[in-house]
Amino acid sequence: MVNFMLKISADLENLTNLQPQGGCDDPSFPYLFKLKCGRCGELSQKETCVSLGDTVPLLQGKGTTNLVQKCKFCMREGTVTMIPGKGRPLTQEDCEGGKFAPLMLFDCRGYEPVGFVFGAGWKVESLEGTKFEGIDLSGDDFSEYDEKGECPVMISNLRSTFEPVK
Ligand SMILES: [Zn+2]
Repeated sequence: MVNFMLKISADLENLTNLQPQGGCDDPSFPYLFKLKCGRCGELSQKETCVSLGDTVPLLQGKGTTNLVQKCKFCMREGTVTMIPGKGRPLTQEDCEGGKFAPLMLFDCRGYEPVGFVFGAGWKVESLEGTKFEGIDLSGDDFSEYDEKGECPVMISNLRSTFEPVK
């Protein structure tokens, strides 16, 4: 079984602790990405949206999952189940070291997740402690002025990857 860890990085200027508004395990934060079918290799046209608070029962077996989707090309059904408790905010130290921070772990059956989309609903804080909330990163960049630190703050060069975890 292979899980996929979503990892993000960015250039944070005078900022730290970039994360979804309610933390990595925010039940209403939408994780958006495409799905590549494990059987026929077809990439879904549109991004799929999953969030921890949205669950559906598994057709076979017990428990719930976050998404059941059928491949439009080969009709195979796959699931995406989110595994909370594995993420943490992206810090200034990560960025200085060129590192990625893990956000969320996905158990994908029949699919491979591809191309995470940042979207809206993020928060970050300045190195002086000023909080910036409800940030929309769908435009790739965020820039503001930190009154307390009297310096410009910026998020740019957003990057993401889905790393296979055995
Ligand atoms: Zn398929």
